[in-house]
Amino acid sequence: MRRKHRILLLFLCMVVLFAMATYLVGDFTIIKGVNAIETTGAEMDMRQLRRHFRAVEAHLSGLVVDWACWDEIYSYVASNKNQEFLKKYFNELSMKKLLLHSAAIFKEDGHLDSFTDVHGQNHDATFFKEEIAQVTKLAHFIYASEIDTLVGFLQIQDCPFVIAVHRIFDSNKQKRTNALLILTSAFNREYIEETQHMVDYDFSILPPKAFSHIKEGAIQGTPYKITYDDDTTHIYSLVHDVFGDAAFCLELRRQRTIAALGMRMSRHNFFLMLILGLSFLLASLTFLHRTEKSIARRELERRLHRDPLTDLANRTVIPQGVADTMATADKNGHLAGVFFIHLNRLKEVNDSYGYDRGDELIREVATRLLHHASPGFVARSGGDKFLVAAEITHQSQCESLANSLIDSLLSPFVINDDEVHIGADIGVALYPAHGKDARQLVHRAELAMFEGRARGNNMTAFFSKDIEVRAARKLKLESSLYEALESEALSVHYQPKVRVASKDVAGCEALVRWQGKDGKFIPPPLFIPLAEECGLVTQIDMFVLRTACRQVKQWHKEGLAVPVAVNMSTRSILSPGFCDTVLDILREENVPPTLIDLEITETCFMSNMEAALTIIERLHGEGLHFALDDFGTGYSSLQYLSSMPISCLKIDKKFVDDIFSGKKTAQALIKSILSLASNLGMTTVSEGVEDRGQLDFLLANGASVIQGYLFSKPLNAEDCTTFLRESHSRISSVMDVPANCHATT
Ligand code: C2E
Ligand code: CA
Ligand code: CA
Repeated sequence: MRRKHRILLLFLCMVVLFAMATYLVGDFTIIKGVNAIETTGAEMDMRQLRRHFRAVEAHLSGLVVDWACWDEIYSYVASNKNQEFLKKYFNELSMKKLLLHSAAIFKEDGHLDSFTDVHGQNHDATFFKEEIAQVTKLAHFIYASEIDTLVGFLQIQDCPFVIAVHRIFDSNKQKRTNALLILTSAFNREYIEETQHMVDYDFSILPPKAFSHIKEGAIQGTPYKITYDDDTTHIYSLVHDVFGDAAFCLELRRQRTIAALGMRMSRHNFFLMLILGLSFLLASLTFLHRTEKSIARRELERRLHRDPLTDLANRTVIPQGVADTMATADKNGHLAGVFFIHLNRLKEVNDSYGYDRGDELIREVATRLLHHASPGFVARSGGDKFLVAAEITHQSQCESLANSLIDSLLSPFVINDDEVHIGADIGVALYPAHGKDARQLVHRAELAMFEGRARGNNMTAFFSKDIEVRAARKLKLESSLYEALESEALSVHYQPKVRVASKDVAGCEALVRWQGKDGKFIPPPLFIPLAEECGLVTQIDMFVLRTACRQVKQWHKEGLAVPVAVNMSTRSILSPGFCDTVLDILREENVPPTLIDLEITETCFMSNMEAALTIIERLHGEGLHFALDDFGTGYSSLQYLSSMPISCLKIDKKFVDDIFSGKKTAQALIKSILSLASNLGMTTVSEGVEDRGQLDFLLANGASVIQGYLFSKPLNAEDCTTFLRESHSRISSVMDVPANCHATT
């Protein structure tokens, strides 16, 4: 799962949890709170109801007291049968007015004397019997208890009554009789409705067992029980009758308006929170999206502008980095230096240790450059090229910075516990002297670097106008060379190699010639390195090989059987398919390999020993001979000589030139090479022999084959054919000239 999705899921869970928590907490607190409020309210309602009943009791009690103390009733009870009194007060109308249901008078002997019942006709006989029985029971209860007054409830056949009992006195309470007056008032429908109207809630009267069936406990400190429906609160209270038994249960119902309000609030809260949560989620999503976009943009920018290996600025940022350095220099009244750095021998490190180690080395290079160029701008221009731009106060500071950069790269790098030396060439361009445009400065520093590189390894070169002119010329040369390859402007000249003792030609060296548009020959040392740089050299070498093959065949036809040596650049030898191409050409031109020698240089072993050995061995196996050209100028190693199938050493012209130049080492070197070759069973060719003195020195020290202007310059095919035909006389004519007085042994 992607990071974004995980965060999203987390946010979603948070919102859901938040909403649930809001819901639960809201519900819980609201319901608890509402229940508490409603419980208190209900309890107060119940108390009010009970107070109302008390008021009814008080009313009845007042009535019964009044009557029981009247002289009239007293006299009625005492004088026995004052029927007028009953007719006057205990008629239905006046009882109704007084909200009475029944009135009973008990005589002093405890017998029921009179019983007036307002609803007598409505109740059935059983009820009436029961009513009288209950009233009589109450009268006996009073007689037994000696109390004068009792007010309370009494249940007669599930119908609750308020009842009041009083002993009958005279009005001054002087004369007490044993007679009783009992008044009852039933909770009839009107009564209930009237009560409801007064207190604004519903109530009902239930049988006492209803109370015991309610599971809810009594409200703390009260004799009430309470239950809740969704929209109604029920509170129950048990009412005891005058005998102390449970008489009935009062149920009071109340609309749960506060609960409904609370629930509405809770829902509003919940939705509010849900909307808030969702808005938060949306905001987070937008934020996340934006963050992701900006991370992606930053990453893209980083990739566009940073080198992934070193995290230095890459080539796209170089112009800006240099321009910034120039701007700072301007502001501070300083100069700026642009240093184009080309590492040496990175390819060898990659070949020998692998690309991972090569990458490590590049990272280490970046670290060293950052350290030495600080606070300057450092970038990797690509592959083995780096660039530094730094503010400087004076040109001499520029030189010392260049030196310190080179020194930092000259100190060894440790790879797999080996100390590896690579070094670098640096080209420097100064601002504002060498340009006022960042791109131009970078380009000029690079040109200077190429110049330094051409002069040798680990060089610092400052830009100059000459460099630019030369570079432009080189560029022109390069494009002309492409044209030359296509327009047959290239040809091959041959230089004979003379076997002095037998005065004949041991072979010829094929040398490429390029005739410019102006008819002048462009010398190979000018264009061969360029062809190597731009990858054209293999094409040139193969052209020379094919031309040489055709010439060999031609000479062969004319009875002039001489082998021809063809120069092979290291780049050609190590190019893919080299062996096959060479053998294909020989086959196509139908030339036996033994008539072709290949001249190679030591650089071929230096760049990739193993590959070179494989190639040389294969071609040698096919019959080709190899000569080691310019021997002694490179990293001459006896190892190549012993392990490679090389049959000839070519002593470089440089040594021959120096034979009489006063450099003693030259003579010693030539002698050593000649004896080395003889000891290894190799032939030698001494190159660049121009005078008799050199010839004699060489011959005296064991040289046998000579190549040089002394016998012949490189000749075109026609002139060389003539030379071959007249070789004996031409060689003799040279040999017959008296020896130069410089010749020594
Ligand atoms: P190299 O292979 O050492 O060839 C010998 C060079 O010395 C030739 O120069 C030749 O003309 C010159 N030379 C020979 N004897 C004398 C002498 O007595 N005095 C003087 N001053 N020079 C002498 P050239 O033809 O200019 O070739 C220069 C170099 O160019 C060659 O050096 C070789 O490295 C390269 N080259 C020439 N042709 C080819 C080619 O077809 N393929 C490749 N790869 N390189 C070539
Ligand atoms: Ca050569
Ligand atoms: Ca040579």
